[in-house]
Amino acid sequence: MTNKGWKNKNGTSNRTCNCGSWKNHWINNSGEKWPARCSILGCNNSATLGAHIINNNVSGEYIVPACDSCNKLISEFDLKGRIKLVSANKQKTCQQ
Ligand SMILES: [Zn+2]
Ligand SMILES: [Zn+2]
Repeated sequence: MTNKGWKNKNGTSNRTCNCGSWKNHWINNSGEKWPARCSILGCNNSATLGAHIINNNVSGEYIVPACDSCNKLISEFDLKGRIKLVSANKQKTCQQ
């Protein structure tokens, strides 16, 4: 999957899932440890939340570890290499 041209999905702040938080959703479905740093290229802040992101060239919505300020970015951003994207589709993940 591409690392380039991602955007935050607007209007997701009230969404919930069975995992309790989108951070836990990422941990439960990625099979990886929560990373120390935000997934957005060029950002060195601590990863504190699971951000909903979308891409014009990729179908679906995904969760990545991010910091609070990157979760508010309006412009497009690129992701760091080797970031695991977890589907935000609950039917495919935590509501099976
Ligand atoms: Zn979940
Ligand atoms: Zn960040």
